[in-house]
Order: sequence, then C-alpha cells, then structure tokens
Amino acid sequence: MEMQVVQRARENFLAGRSRPLEFRVQQLKSLQRMITDRQGEIATALKQDINRSQYDTPLLELIGLENEISLAVSKLAQWAAPRPVEKSLLTISDQVYIQPEPLGVVLIIGAWNYPWALTLQPLVGAIAAGNAAVVKPSELSEYSASLLKALLPRYLDQELYPVVCGGVSETQELLRQRFDHIFYTGNSTVGKLVMEAAARHLTPVTLELGGKSPCYIDKDVDLRVACRRITWGKFVNCGQTCIAPDYILCEPSIQNRVVEGIRQTLLEFYGPDPKSSPDYGRIINQRHFNRVMALLDGYTAALGGQSDSSQRYIAPTVVKDVPPHARLMQEEIFGPLLPIVTVSDIDDAIHFISEREKPLAIYVFSSNKKVIKRMLAETTSGGVTVNDVMMHYTLNSLPFGGVGQSGTGRYHGKHTFDQLSHHRACLVKSLGMEEVNMVWYPPQNHQKARRVSDPKLLNGSVHSTKDMSLCLVSLALEYCLLALCVCLCD
Ligand code: NAD
Repeated sequence: MEMQVVQRARENFLAGRSRPLEFRVQQLKSLQRMITDRQGEIATALKQDINRSQYDTPLLELIGLENEISLAVSKLAQWAAPRPVEKSLLTISDQVYIQPEPLGVVLIIGAWNYPWALTLQPLVGAIAAGNAAVVKPSELSEYSASLLKALLPRYLDQELYPVVCGGVSETQELLRQRFDHIFYTGNSTVGKLVMEAAARHLTPVTLELGGKSPCYIDKDVDLRVACRRITWGKFVNCGQTCIAPDYILCEPSIQNRVVEGIRQTLLEFYGPDPKSSPDYGRIINQRHFNRVMALLDGYTAALGGQSDSSQRYIAPTVVKDVPPHARLMQEEIFGPLLPIVTVSDIDDAIHFISEREKPLAIYVFSSNKKVIKRMLAETTSGGVTVNDVMMHYTLNSLPFGGVGQSGTGRYHGKHTFDQLSHHRACLVKSLGMEEVNMVWYPPQNHQKARRVSDPKLLNGSVHSTKDMSLCLVSLALEYCLLALCVCLCD
C-alpha cells in the first residue's frame, strides 16, 4: 500500500506535474483555502487531541502556517529564478548561475504536539520547491491525523501529495522506500532510525529534534517581565513544545523571587485552579503522563505538583534547587515541569550549558549587554532569543532548526524552499572565446602556466560590467602582445 503511494507520487513527479510555478501557486492557495474553510474542524480536533483552547489554535498553529503560505505565494517566482553568481575571467562571456530545482519525492513525518503546523509547514516548502510529498502525520494526535487525511485530498492533488496514516509499522514501511528527502520532526531516538533508513538510499534528511533548552535569568533583570514571558513559553500547550524553556539557571539570590514571579503569573493566566482553565492543556496520552510524573518522583514542588491521571492533567509545576545530576535534568521534560538549577554566576551558567548537548534553543534574560554578548558568543544552539522565549521561531526570515543532537537542517520561509531544493550549479558556455580556453590545452609552456596562476582567471571575482570590460581589454592586450612576440620571433 505505502509502496504504491510512493510509486504514484514518483510517477506524477517524473511526469513533471509538480514543476510549473502556476501549479505550485495554485496548490498553495488551495492549502490556504483549506485552513480558512476548516478552521473550526481543526480547532475541534485539537481540542480532542490535546485540550487546545479554541483561541490558541489560530495563534499557535494556523497564523504561522498562513504566513508561510502567503510568503511562498508572493516570493515563489523570485525564489525559483536562476541566481546569477560571480564569474571568473575564463567564464566572462558565459552564463553562470545557481538553479534551484525540485529534489523529487519528499517524505514528511510529523509530530503530535503541533500536528498541523509541524506537518504542513514542511509541505508548504515541498510544494513551493516543486516536489511531490508523502505526508505522514503523527498517530498520537489521532483526531488531527484523521482530519488531515480526510481534508488534504479535497484541496490538494492527491497523487502528488498523499497522506499516509498509521503508527510505527506504517512509518517503518514508508522508511524502507526510496525518497529524495526525508523531513522528520520528533524525538532523537526515532531520529536516529530515520537517518539509518535514509542512509540505505543515500537520502538527505532534515531532522527537527528536541532536547533541553536552557533559560538563564540574570540577577539584575526586570523579573516581572522575565517571569511572565517564561511562564507563557513553558506552560503553553501544557509544556509540550520543542523550544519551551526546559529549565531555569539563576543565582541562588534571586531563586525565590523567580518562583514568586511565576506564581503570580500563573494566577494571572490560569486562575487559582489551572485544571478548570480553558487555556490550560492536557498531556497527549497516558504513556507521556506517566513519563512526566515519574520525572517528578522524589521532589517537593515549590509550585503546583498536583495531577489527575483520568484527565491526563498535570498542574504547572516548579521545582527549586534541582541538582544538575537529577533525573529531571537528564532528559527533555516535554511537559509542565520547570526545574530551577542555581549557578554561581554567568561563567558557571555558560559552563553548565556548554558541557551538555547543543540545545535547540537558548534563552537569556538580562539588561546587561556584556552578559548577553557573552552568552551569545560563548554558547551554541539551534536558535536563541534574548529577553523572551520562543520568538525566534515566529520569524520566517530566520532559519529554524537544531544543531548537533538537537537536529540537522533548517526551515521556515525561504529556508524551507532552499532545504527542499537542489541547488544546481549551471555554467552555459559560448563556443566563442576559444583563445581564453587555450590555457588548458597542450602543449603547455611557461606563459600558459603563468596565465593559469592568475587568480582572476579561475576565481569567481568578476563583479560588474566595468570589471568585465577591464578584464576583456587586459586579456585582448595580452593576446595582441603575445601575437606580436610570435611575429617578431618568426
Ligand atoms: P511522535 O511520537 O509523534 O513521533 C514522531 C513521528 O515518528 C510519528 O509520525 C511516528 O509515527 C514516528 N515514529 C515513532 N516511532 C517510530 C519508530 N520506531 N520508527 C519509525 N517511526 C516512528 O513524536 P515525539 O517523538 O513524541 O515528539 C516529541 C519530540 O519531538 C520531542 O523531543 C520534541 O522536542 C521534538 N519536537 C521537535 C520539534 C522541532 O521542530 N525541532 C517540533 C516538535 C517536536
């Protein structure tokens, strides 16, 4: 079944159906229409999957997706056009450019925590770049997956962009097929399996993974603002966000004020009982509920700590003075638990971050430029936001992705188009100017060897028409001189 789906997508791709720019734009606009027409159904599915509030659905998933689509529609002609590059003296009269071209059939494996955005944003780039794409939504967000399976064929070409639903065995069957790119979002254990499967066909991959994203709070910062921003980023979607701040690093002197700031904000956001707040979500399933609760074993919560397994509810929870080697600090939490680890100063914080795996995101709250500068210069991560959390994700001008263990490859906006295109190196030579080519041909001599060593001959350093005319004049003069010498010798 999966084999046939991939085969059909490939046949349609090879027939050239996904290539014309007008077709790509038409498909993208149709996807946009699906989101507008079906927003209510999408919100209901998310409510069933993860208790997402009806206001959060557009805010957290659909607005970003719509922005991606409208950007791709408006910029597609520009993105897909040949990109001229600098020429060398040898190619001065030729056409030299990079041509973005489709890769072929892309496999998109989505995750459950933002099932629409994480599955459809790569699809926007795949369509824009002229590919076919097989879409595999996560089986854990089952209402969203079945709705996507029902809706997508009504709006998009179903041969080129089929949806395959199912769990591990269906995904593994898909991974046995040959694709031209695999775009995977999810945990790093499965990420390794995806990379292994891709290696069998030498298929390139984008792996959007997770990890522990630290958040450093400097002692002199406005804690009221910092705590409000951190509380939102940590507890939105019930902590199930790949770039949520995973833990806080701060000096012991401000720890209690941080806890108090978060307590006040939680009251503002969710009232005295977050369980009854329409804005507070639930854990996706029982397995993840048990996993998150097990991380809390043995700790006394400074805030929250309550849970109700029948609803998969875990209160927004803060734990103070967490030792660096605690279990809570060994794996990504991906739930509403926020540990605070104290550090002695900025050096200690930088050291703490740098001796761990490269995170997907780093956050630093400070009003001290030196602190910000040091944190940016002395750490690394997929992305970074200073004095806020997660906001770098919202800018489609910035590439989104991880580094090292937090992922490979990047997307959003033009970056998705580029990620899912092949950048073909194109040189279209004229049959004229054979004199210039003579430097390659035998018999070789000193003069030819000297010419080849001129950096302008081979380096891509010719910028303007003025440069080009100057080079041509100098070349012509040199050849006249050479011809004169030959005549005189004769
Ligand atoms: P998940 O369980 O939905 O798995 C993701 C996909 O992998 C699903 O489509 C699933 O069918 C498939 N899958 C699961 N097990 C498999 C197996 N053994 N073989 C083949 N395929 C398999 O999602 P998840 O992994 O629980 O997602 C949470 C993780 O994803 C977190 O680590 C989070 O940080 C990360 N994440 C990263 C991003 C990002 O953009 N970087 C976004 C969201 C989530």
